[in-house]
Amino acid sequence: MTHRLETTISDALWAAIQARAQMLGQPTRQVVQEALAEALDLDHHSMFQVSTSGALVEGLYQGALTVGDLRRHGDTGLGTFEELDGEMILVDGHCYQARGDGTVTEVTDDVLTPFATVVAFAVDESHIMTDVISFDDLTSRLDGLRDSDNEFFAWRITGFLDALRMRTACRHASGTPLAEAVVDQAVFERLDLPATIVGFWSPGFSQAIAIPGYHLHAISDDRAHAGHVFDLRAQRLTVDVHRVSDLHVALPETEAFLQANLVAAHADMDAIERSKG
Ligand SMILES: [Zn+2]
Repeated sequence: MTHRLETTISDALWAAIQARAQMLGQPTRQVVQEALAEALDLDHHSMFQVSTSGALVEGLYQGALTVGDLRRHGDTGLGTFEELDGEMILVDGHCYQARGDGTVTEVTDDVLTPFATVVAFAVDESHIMTDVISFDDLTSRLDGLRDSDNEFFAWRITGFLDALRMRTACRHASGTPLAEAVVDQAVFERLDLPATIVGFWSPGFSQAIAIPGYHLHAISDDRAHAGHVFDLRAQRLTVDVHRVSDLHVALPETEAFLQANLVAAHADMDAIERSKG
């Protein structure tokens, strides 16, 4: 959505905007938009994350930030909820909770998250992908859209899914290591589902903070089905790419986080997040 802004500014500001526009060869509105975004701390190429993957692996599921605060940092993303109570998917600014019983609800702003990653999604590039036969097929083609292994990438993928296999974590007491907590995860398979998939690719060097590689959550257009993506098939997908060159991490101020030993906390995320259930 875009909005029309009408205002009066000084000659000096106007001259500076014109000079910048000329120097960069950009239209006036783009110069104004970028200057405002920077002044208001809304860098479109920054990613905001609550807590670290290492803390999640150690079982630190105490709520650290409200969904309302999270939504101030972006409109697209994923994560989980207090006590690992399901999967979070943030799409078009709406935050949904997919629980182990298969239900999906939009959550209120006062709900807490222990771990989540969001961006203010802005499309840098858009691609059409046809005849996607599996998750591995999808991710190898997404690899082809990345020109670096050392930046983060956010994805928004829309289309009609012929098949979707996903999991939702079930609620566990804080302190249960993630590898144990996902043993009883619920796995769902859906057919013929118009859906949106959002998520990230994170570089290997970020493994103590982020979840390296691809991490995608899906939600159906009717908002009735959602979860962490394990596998999918689709005839035609629109893939939007958003490059991320800046990462902000909000460290939880919970006692559990402050006292945890996270020195050796890193996960075999491949086993946890890409298990075929
Ligand atoms: Zn996930």
